[in-house]
Amino acid sequence: KICIFWFRRDLRLNDNAGLYRALTSGLKVLPVFIFDTDILDELDDKKDARVHFIWQEVKSIKKTLEEKHGTSLLVKHGSPLKIFKDLVSEFPVAEVFTNRDYEPSAKERDKAVYEFLKSKDIVFKGFKDQVIFDKSEVMKEDGTPYEVFTPYMKKYKSQLKPFYLKSYPVKKYISNFYKCEPFDNISLSDLSFEKSNVEFPDRNFDKETIRSYHENRDFPAKKGTTRLSLHLRFGTISIRKLARLARKENDKFFNELIWRDFYQMILYHFPKSVNEAFKKKYDAIKWENNEEHFKKWCEGKTGYPLVDAGMRELNETDFMHNRVRMVVASFLTKHLLIDWRWGEAYFAVKLLDYDQASNIGGWQWAAGCGVDAAPYFRVFNPELQLKKFDPENEYVKKWVPEWSTPEYPEPIVEHKFARERALSRYKEALS
Ligand code: FAD
Repeated sequence: KICIFWFRRDLRLNDNAGLYRALTSGLKVLPVFIFDTDILDELDDKKDARVHFIWQEVKSIKKTLEEKHGTSLLVKHGSPLKIFKDLVSEFPVAEVFTNRDYEPSAKERDKAVYEFLKSKDIVFKGFKDQVIFDKSEVMKEDGTPYEVFTPYMKKYKSQLKPFYLKSYPVKKYISNFYKCEPFDNISLSDLSFEKSNVEFPDRNFDKETIRSYHENRDFPAKKGTTRLSLHLRFGTISIRKLARLARKENDKFFNELIWRDFYQMILYHFPKSVNEAFKKKYDAIKWENNEEHFKKWCEGKTGYPLVDAGMRELNETDFMHNRVRMVVASFLTKHLLIDWRWGEAYFAVKLLDYDQASNIGGWQWAAGCGVDAAPYFRVFNPELQLKKFDPENEYVKKWVPEWSTPEYPEPIVEHKFARERALSRYKEALS
């Protein structure tokens, strides 16, 4: 008998909780990765950089396993349930190990796989790996989930013992893989995708960025944030390793990692927030949903330089700085009165670090309808945000070179008018 370790958003061999459990289970471990057609078939862009990134990381893990450990990675392409049906008839599988994923669609997928495996007397085990505290480990005294960040963060820190940040010593048990010849490689074209031109951020970050994070994080022209979001999304860096460093070096940075756990926990407990306002009343807002305005926002042609710079950075690099994400999201929902779900969907297609929990959390926060959101009457002024966070206009000049020339368009809405319209529209919905 053997066991399977199923890689998903944990693409690394070191400090991997589920992999460690599999390797210490007493059974030989067959590692598997599935390019899930239920996800890939939904992607229209055949040069989707995320697929390229995952493919590259999977290939690298496979190579390491083959060259150093006398095993291989079984890479499949299809629907996970169907793949598992084949795998259990091909291999003498007793158990399947994996790391938990809290996205509603992932939970459904895992439930179907679990039911099937159970019918074959095969155990399916999920472990906590992508967060420090699992979905129900930091709860209010009455056992219900927190809906406000600060008390959650305080409880989180008070519960945090070194044990939670310890890495899993996978290396020590690495000889427990199932020994085999290399399995077939899958090329990107086998998956009907192509390489993208996007540059992937380095996972070897500069410690200095973390040390000076609190001073530089809000300035998009500086290299003030780590750009590790892609690696945290796909598990190519361990959250425990980063959290150990964060705790030691910079509390502000540590808090941002806690926001990530917070949104994962929220998504798990409130899966409806994927397409419903967390605060129900906000679903009564009468959005303008002007398609022409939405197009201009997407293309970075609103006539507001900071908004346009952000959208162009996103369109060109698949990344956008956090401060600018807040500004463009506020602009879309408040100035243009366009439903936050439109913006969320646009980010979902474009962002290299797209993560359902953080994206829904960020959008609902900006629209004022989410957990711990800014009050609706606080409307970002995009001109003031520019003065404050890009005082030398460096970021804007980089992405909107024509911004101070006559070619640059007039603002699509006037700030004062837009602000008052948003306030009255929100007020109407909430009354
Ligand atoms: P750093 O500032 O270096 O932070 C380190 C890590 O902490 C990040 O990589 C990320 O994993 C986490 N983090 C930081 N800020 C937040 C936050 N506010 N919420 C949750 N986690 C955070 N982040 C995503 O990873 N995926 C998304 O799809 C996403 N969508 C967003 C949408 C909106 C409208 C907003 C306002 C924010 C969104 N964020 C999202 C959060 C944040 O903007 C990014 O995590 C951050 O910009 C990534 O850059 P970095 O790695 O340099 O971050």
